[in-house]
Amino acid sequence: MDLKSGYPWWAVKNGLLQAFPPLEQDLRCDVLVVGGGITGALTADAFARHGHEVAVVERRDIAWGSSAASTGLLQYEIDAHMVDLAREYGEDAAVLAYRACAEAIPALQTLARELRDVGFGTARSLYFASRRRDGPGLQAEYALRAKHGFEVTWLPSQELEARYGIQAPAAILSRLGGHLDPYRTAYRLLGRLRRRGSGVYDRTAIVHVQTTSRGIVATTSGGVRIRAAHLVFAAGYANQKWLKQDVARNRSSYAFVTDPVDRGLLGELRRTMVWESARPYLYMRPTGDGRLLVGGEDDAVDIPARRDARVGKKARVLYKRVSKMFPHLPLRPAFSWAGTFAETKDGLPYFGAHPQHGPRVLFAMAYGGNGITYSMAGARLLRALVERRRHPLARLFAFDR
Ligand SMILES: Cc1cc2nc3c(=O)[nH]c(=O)nc-3n(C[C@H](O)[C@H](O)[C@H](O)COP(=O)(O)OP(=O)(O)OC[C@H]3O[C@@H](n4cnc5c(N)ncnc54)[C@H](O)[C@@H]3O)c2cc1C
Repeated sequence: MDLKSGYPWWAVKNGLLQAFPPLEQDLRCDVLVVGGGITGALTADAFARHGHEVAVVERRDIAWGSSAASTGLLQYEIDAHMVDLAREYGEDAAVLAYRACAEAIPALQTLARELRDVGFGTARSLYFASRRRDGPGLQAEYALRAKHGFEVTWLPSQELEARYGIQAPAAILSRLGGHLDPYRTAYRLLGRLRRRGSGVYDRTAIVHVQTTSRGIVATTSGGVRIRAAHLVFAAGYANQKWLKQDVARNRSSYAFVTDPVDRGLLGELRRTMVWESARPYLYMRPTGDGRLLVGGEDDAVDIPARRDARVGKKARVLYKRVSKMFPHLPLRPAFSWAGTFAETKDGLPYFGAHPQHGPRVLFAMAYGGNGITYSMAGARLLRALVERRRHPLARLFAFDR
């Protein structure tokens, strides 16, 4: 399935950074990671750093799936409010999920420092109430986050307008947040893994997996066999093809990037990501070179040709909305695109084994608006599972939670 349409900004900006060899000979390793997007890269890195012999296979070019379309916001805030998660799973579990994403941001920052030049920046996150009736819910959310030590500020309408020029009933301003270039990060990480001795292969598709009590045998479309103690499916939305259980709904999400905007005019938007309580939400973030990346307008389209046809219209709707919000900004759209996106019912991801495949096959399904922070947290959880250690997120991210 083609996972994106139009001109995803990262692919335009970076081009194809590096080709890896396809796998042409049988191979043995400890952990085979299927999928060379940001999730596969972070997962492989988590294992390789701790002495596991890792191989990564990607059926196309590296990061050419949803990672190329992602707008790269790093938020500890999950699409599901902490209040809603607390109602469903209890307050401790809700806080655990939020903390896991919060801890992922500085961990990603450290990684970005090691890799250098992957477009990482810190940014605040401003979450505003789209309608008056969303105000009380947002205030409850603010109170719960503040109670558990998250650095949040409540901005009433007047202050929100004075600081950000946004006319809305109220907002939560979070101190912790960031953004990066997920495409470049995946390339740089996998390139480094390869230099350090891990196998990284592109144009290598896994078409069959057999499990035994001691491991797995994965077969590529070219008939090459990989034997490993564990396999991690980090195949993005294609993960669902390997499961009979229906765990998520595929959707399309749309985005555009503007030409660089005068920094003085951007003001606070230079260091703030903005999103809202309406669903689907409009969101935006700055880039290092002074552009605004704007996204949203999600719909249920799951057919690439139909999604392609909608990119222009959706980008115009997004442009109109953001121009109305910030009439003083001379915004000129430069590139627009769309990508596949998946949602789980409760907004939480799935990381772990599924009874259909047994304990040797693990899934990394970082679904939702926080795919990258989920991947960072989930990679640690998967390593703990392989090393047979307990992990606090195991239950909450499990298929049978
Ligand atoms: C428009 C848009 C904006 C988004 N914005 C954000 C954001 O701001 N922040 C955020 O955190 N997330 C965001 N997301 C979600 C984001 O895309 C994901 O978090 C992340 O990119 C998913 O990465 P992934 O590696 O799991 O999937 P992918 O990048 O799709 O990688 C999976 C890879 O597996 C490969 N593969 C599949 N099957 C096989 C096989 N059988 N053999 C070998 N390889 C295989 C595919 O070719 C693919 O390259 C956004 C998504 C969209 C569409």
